[in-house]
Amino acid sequence: MNLVLLGAPGAGKGTVAQELVAEFGVAHISTGDLLRAAVKGGTELGIQAKKYMDAGELVPDQLVIDLVKERLAADDAQQGFILDGFPRTIAQAEALESMGVHIDAVLSIEVSDEKIIRRMSGRRVCECGMSYHTEYLPPKEEGKCDKCGKPLVIRNDDANFLVAHALLPRFIRLSAARSLGRVSTSLITTPRSTSLSNAARCTSVSFVS
Ligand code: AMP
Repeated sequence: MNLVLLGAPGAGKGTVAQELVAEFGVAHISTGDLLRAAVKGGTELGIQAKKYMDAGELVPDQLVIDLVKERLAADDAQQGFILDGFPRTIAQAEALESMGVHIDAVLSIEVSDEKIIRRMSGRRVCECGMSYHTEYLPPKEEGKCDKCGKPLVIRNDDANFLVAHALLPRFIRLSAARSLGRVSTSLITTPRSTSLSNAARCTSVSFVS
């Protein structure tokens, strides 16, 4: 079974993907994980991708498309896969179509803005790959990895996302199903989010470089 998993950062794509992998035994292909591994490994792709990721921007389409194409050709992906974090642009969606890969379903995880900000501001990671949440999955000792004891940090792209939303005047989810006229009306009438102060809190946490 071949699936595409969509959702805003912090929506819980990684957790849902893990459950689907356990249930269906398919390959979990996360472009974020692949890119982070490339950065860590100091590959040519990693060096190029790092500056975009550090700035909280999308990595250029062609780099990500080539990466996914190569990953989809691997043996384990032939038994089925979950694409997590890809496609993220129209060019990537078109590239996926032109690869001739059959997709059985696209799952979109819908989560409120409030919840996303709460999840992201509590997410902490260790350089060994372990991941925690200050509220939902705290480490045994605060700020330290259970597995290797190293200090936990907030991921750079989480921080950038949260800081961007703390700085932006409004955080508005647009529905492509609505007409442009209705979208502009909602831009004028949507109140400022009350959860932005949560986002601002994470600016004091050290970042993963
Ligand atoms: P994620 O773990 O999916 O949130 O991805 C982490 C970072 O990797 C993103 O903030 C982007 O900089 C980069 N990235 C991941 N997937 C893509 C993609 N499909 N296109 C462009 N950049 C991506």
